[in-house]
Amino acid sequence: MSRATRYDHVIVGGGLQGCLVSHALAHHRPEARVLLVERASDLCGNHTWSFHESDIPEQARAWFDPLVAHRWPGYLVRFPALTRRVGIPYATISSAGLREATRRLAAEAHARAGRGALVIRSGAACEIVSPTCVRLGDGALVDGATVIDCRGRAAAPGPPRGAGYQSFIGHEFRVGRRWPAAEPTVMDVREDQASGFEFLYELPFGPDRVLLEYTRFSEDPGCDEARAEALIATRLAEAGAHDTERLRTERGCLPMPYEAPARAPNAAVAGGYAGGWYHAATGYSMPLAARFADILARAAPDRVGAELAAAAAGDSLRRGFARFLNRLLFCLVTPRDRWKIFRRFYRVLSEERISRFYAHRFTVADAARIVVGRPPSGLAPLRFARSFLSPTGPGLT
Ligand SMILES: Cc1cc2nc3c(=O)[nH]c(=O)nc-3n(C[C@H](O)[C@H](O)[C@H](O)COP(=O)(O)OP(=O)(O)OC[C@H]3O[C@@H](n4cnc5c(N)ncnc54)[C@H](O)[C@@H]3O)c2cc1C
Repeated sequence: MSRATRYDHVIVGGGLQGCLVSHALAHHRPEARVLLVERASDLCGNHTWSFHESDIPEQARAWFDPLVAHRWPGYLVRFPALTRRVGIPYATISSAGLREATRRLAAEAHARAGRGALVIRSGAACEIVSPTCVRLGDGALVDGATVIDCRGRAAAPGPPRGAGYQSFIGHEFRVGRRWPAAEPTVMDVREDQASGFEFLYELPFGPDRVLLEYTRFSEDPGCDEARAEALIATRLAEAGAHDTERLRTERGCLPMPYEAPARAPNAAVAGGYAGGWYHAATGYSMPLAARFADILARAAPDRVGAELAAAAAGDSLRRGFARFLNRLLFCLVTPRDRWKIFRRFYRVLSEERISRFYAHRFTVADAARIVVGRPPSGLAPLRFARSFLSPTGPGLT
């Protein structure tokens, strides 16, 4: 078997994390030779990745900011008896934009013809043989000083041990009349919660373009398509948007674990979902994926593993607390009452605390403010207690 070119970095998985790492490396280590391998026919899938601007570390802004497709100065949340505008700037990166920017990066490195390179190989799955070697789809072995596992959920050996799920169906529309809102509504929550916490998510990309996404937090990974379509249609009707063209659909399901994930021994450096670099309680990957990319790219080559491990260790209490919140949500509170947890979050927390929570930089005092207070109605304490004992979670009761 041929042993092909050696790279400084081999990135396995060209989704959100793999592409962010490519951009951070191009900025901090333009001399590095990087191979990015994606099993799908192209990079990035079909997503809209939103985040709070305050999620992004200041030192990552130079390479991160050019990737941002849309920005808004704030957003709304709507619950029964509570509407709040949160004045934290909110923003989005699109799959299409990130794909194009990453391809451009590879073309620019090629045109420079210097030592640095970004080579993209898509269309075949790649196997991680060791922390410094991968096997490509054609069987060729490739060495890398660092192999970075960015395979997302595909890296996990099976379903998560104990988790709830956040499932989504979203449509992007062109609308025939001006959309009535200029800022996102991150949660539009109606009182008739049928089978878990559900809400509509609204991103106005312009006066005539909007993404409407149905989201449900539930014990099971399925999504009620009819319910999603009904809520989206209701919102279009409320907005007076009768003349619409559907431009795109995105869907997916994200586990929200309350058990710590198992990690394979001697595994390669792992980022994104594969490495636990995502916010377990919000489902947002961006804050930790951007942080991972920046730390990795700044680290001296022989210190990459150590610096990432130190950063993860420094964050382990927060990761544990995020999983604990998921346990509270999925095991302690009954499905029809879950929305009250989120209403309380937005009722009592200041913008500073909200921003630190989403950015995964919350303090002990922030954590206490989230959980200490009058308990929600609809508790299931027995189920909550059982969730600590069963390795597969409490089961549906
Ligand atoms: C519908 C939906 C909406 C979301 N919205 C947001 C949001 O607004 N903001 C946010 O921050 N997060 C959001 N998330 C979460 C976020 O999309 C994911 O957590 C994030 O994509 C994880 O990044 P990743 O790079 O680890 O994995 P992915 O983006 O899934 O990328 C993994 C890549 O690895 C590839 N791959 C897998 N196995 C192999 C292999 N053997 N060889 C080569 N390639 C391989 C896959 O094809 C894929 O392209 C959302 C998730 C969903 C499902």
